Amino acid sequence: MVSEDYRVMWQELGMDLDKHDEFLAPVPQLYHDLFLAQGNRPASMEYFDFVMSEVHGLRVKELVEFKQAGGFVAGTFCVYVPDELVLAAGGAVIGLCAGAQYPIPAAEKILPRSTCPLIKASLGFRLERICPYAQVSDFLVGETTCDGKKKMWEIMNDYGPTYVMELPQRKDEVDRELWQAEVRRFKDYVEGQSGRAITPDTLAGAIRLVNEKRRALQRLYDCRKHDPAPISGKDVLLISQLAFFDDPQRFVAQTINLCQELEGRIERGEGVVPAGTPRILVTGTPMPLPHWKLHHIIETSGAVVVCEETCTGTRYFETLVADDASTLDAQLEAVAGRAMQINCACFTPNDGRINDILRLVREYRADGVIYYNLQFCQTYSIEHYLVEKALQQAGVPVLHIESDFSEEDTAQLATRVQAFLEMLG
Ligand code: SF4
Ligand code: SF4
Repeated sequence: MVSEDYRVMWQELGMDLDKHDEFLAPVPQLYHDLFLAQGNRPASMEYFDFVMSEVHGLRVKELVEFKQAGGFVAGTFCVYVPDELVLAAGGAVIGLCAGAQYPIPAAEKILPRSTCPLIKASLGFRLERICPYAQVSDFLVGETTCDGKKKMWEIMNDYGPTYVMELPQRKDEVDRELWQAEVRRFKDYVEGQSGRAITPDTLAGAIRLVNEKRRALQRLYDCRKHDPAPISGKDVLLISQLAFFDDPQRFVAQTINLCQELEGRIERGEGVVPAGTPRILVTGTPMPLPHWKLHHIIETSGAVVVCEETCTGTRYFETLVADDASTLDAQLEAVAGRAMQINCACFTPNDGRINDILRLVREYRADGVIYYNLQFCQTYSIEHYLVEKALQQAGVPVLHIESDFSEEDTAQLATRVQAFLEMLG
């Protein structure tokens, strides 16, 4: 039962309550079937279950109160956008990428149907006014990572201020300089929005905090390198998705708490599945909340997902910002430098991503790779060819899947995944 306070809050945020009710109605049952019904879950997942049960409630209330106390909220859509600058100016950051089917028909009234579902859902949430995080954001931050997003921001701007960062598409010196200039321009924008100057002290604090979040996720992922895996891939995917919403300090404390429990399991040789269960690495496009379809199929077909080379996976946390700079200028350079180590398919050439995947297969002892890309995502879809070639040369089996946020193809995907797993033996 939703508290009356939340309904008042949602109304004050300008949300469409009827549509919001309709959108949320199936979530508790879905969450029960996909998550709570799993056997042998770590007890520390209780916190993340709680966050999920309150996903449009408590955290939004915190943000509303944060704004009443003089803070501001920025909504972002890509791991290249530096959270550190928003935090250093006294703001909060929320990752707004959407992974739901519900708002897509509304978006298709404006965008071509042949647009990536992530882009359609992100705009659709705004059009339908069913995402309290979009509603509570003072401004959105887009980027020029792919053509679809680049053009969608122009429309999104009609529904709320949308700042766009220009991301280069190569990593040569001239591109690094461009990105550094973009990071500085973003700093000026954030300072203008907040009315507060970013100082070496506030930026150092923000760099430390976001690095702590990345380290906590690194430690969590390290636990998955063990056989038997101490936690399901579905649970880790959920945690990664919640990392984009939750209060960073609290998230770090709770993730460390979970890691301690998992490390105990590892010491005792306990797993969430038996040792020898086929281990799958998923690579490709992000899986924003609540896009759990592929993981659920894999893990109900007798395998376990041990790593995601995605932006809701390793690309989000593997690289840290160097924290030894003492001047603001050097700090900004370090913030920009971290992003240039992330290997998204929007870059060319992108050998770094292939090397990352080969390395992760070894580190996580994966038996096979599932290359997943959202429909109409050209960069990831085309890059599949080179990734598959490298994996085949290394003797690693790979399955390519293209899908969207709907449930229509679930049975067909399950058949393909099961045939792939049988082949792994
Ligand atoms: S896949 Fe590329 S564009 Fe999408 S969030 Fe990741 S880095 Fe950004
Ligand atoms: S998944 Fe691909 S097409 Fe969709 S927003 Fe990301 S880069 Fe663009």
